[in-house]
Amino acid sequence: MNFDYDLFVVGAGSGGVRAARMSASHGAKVAMAEEYRVGGTCVIRGCVPKKLFVYASHYAEDFHEAQGFGWTLGDAQFDWSKLIENKDKEIDRLNQIYIKNAQAAGVEIIEARAELVDRNTVNVGGRLVTARYILLAPGATPFIPDIPGASHAISSNEAFHLEALPEKMVIVGGGYIAVEFAGIFNGLGVDVTLIYRGDEIMRGFDHDIRTHLREEMVKKGITIMLNTDVTAIAEQDKGFEVALADGSLCQTGLVMYATGRVPNIQGLGLEQAGVETHASGAIKVDAYSQTSVENIYAVGDVTDRAQLTPIAIREGAAFAETVFNNNPQKVDHSIIPTAVFSQPPIGTVGMTEEVAREHHDLDVYRSVFRPMKHTLSGSEEKTLMKLLVDKKSDKILGLHIVGPDSGEMIQAFGVAVSMGASKADFDATVAVHPTAAEELVTMKNPVDG
Ligand code: NDP
Repeated sequence: MNFDYDLFVVGAGSGGVRAARMSASHGAKVAMAEEYRVGGTCVIRGCVPKKLFVYASHYAEDFHEAQGFGWTLGDAQFDWSKLIENKDKEIDRLNQIYIKNAQAAGVEIIEARAELVDRNTVNVGGRLVTARYILLAPGATPFIPDIPGASHAISSNEAFHLEALPEKMVIVGGGYIAVEFAGIFNGLGVDVTLIYRGDEIMRGFDHDIRTHLREEMVKKGITIMLNTDVTAIAEQDKGFEVALADGSLCQTGLVMYATGRVPNIQGLGLEQAGVETHASGAIKVDAYSQTSVENIYAVGDVTDRAQLTPIAIREGAAFAETVFNNNPQKVDHSIIPTAVFSQPPIGTVGMTEEVAREHHDLDVYRSVFRPMKHTLSGSEEKTLMKLLVDKKSDKILGLHIVGPDSGEMIQAFGVAVSMGASKADFDATVAVHPTAAEELVTMKNPVDG
């Protein structure tokens, strides 16, 4: 049977673009549909603009701390609209680069919504096209629980385009996006209250990391309310009234939900094509990203294996190798170094102490210290570093940091931990002085075993 395309990709985010470009480079005729903007969540309204906001918000602290180093500064002013304007310019630039690179690789970009009609046919903007293979990479979308007044709340999508900053805001959730945006808005002068239903933020992270981050966020002026939840939001003359589970009320200028992201499968036509999903809505895939339908694959957030850009990119690349380069490749999801751009940021790789203890006898090395910069800056911020070592094999099972530049550190330490480095390997590595990272190769005595 003849098809219009060898590959039709639904969604031009990190995973889709990588798969499309690589498949085209292996000789496939590829089309890629995108209903919003080429680049996807990470580039358009995720990692990239978020990191720019983190830089912007950190200046407040930097200006303050500069005084300890002898600087006298004038009255610093911040212009939110200028930041948005410059951020938008940068996102437009990246969007164009993504389009150009995909086209240069021979990928046809179709700016329209795509829906599966059957296992080889896609309705794209009202036109039916056929493809031998289909790759689903439509990503995920913010989830906001269905409470009274939920429509008054924004998600991270809108946070990137606020017309003005509120004086006060409530952020609901205790995960990646909640802590990152709490830090951003707090740094920009907003009075932030973070409301989380559990007893500690960042569930799934090492317990010391969770406590340390919360304490540091509170020191910076963020109010964190645990073990409670928002039950209703009502609009008022100025702002909103938020009702909490304990019956109390709080007034705020803006409510932002950061309560997870759900697979973008609405109207995707999965049933027509016979593509199966998990109860969560995530598309079921095997280790090669193949769905329940032989010629249909899925990568990235829509499969909810790990909602992280570098993972979507790997899954997209492995798909192209498997299907169009006769080189079957699986993606290893077992060790994923990751950073959370909270303030201070988290860098982490490997197991948490809780998970490691289930299967291993452990030596735990932990250090909490004042980074050198803060000897003069006046800041009370502390850094936490933690190593989890298997007593029997001496292997590093987990490495966790909360502190400045921990995202940068974890990329490098992630190589060592992924390679299976031992504590002896760390000890044999010469320290780089004076750095914070040297702490990780100079830890002498376990705090407990
Ligand atoms: P997360 O899963 O990280 O956090 C969701 C938070 O919302 C959790 O604290 C969760 O609580 C809470 N929550 C979930 N449902 C409800 C509910 N019905 N009512 C109240 N609270 C609720 O999701 P995010 O939205 O923060 O981010 C989505 C994903 O995007 C992340 O998991 C991550 O994979 C990715 N991401 C990665 C970043 C990075 O790499 N730096 C940055 C931003 C996002 P509980 O823990 O109790 O379930």
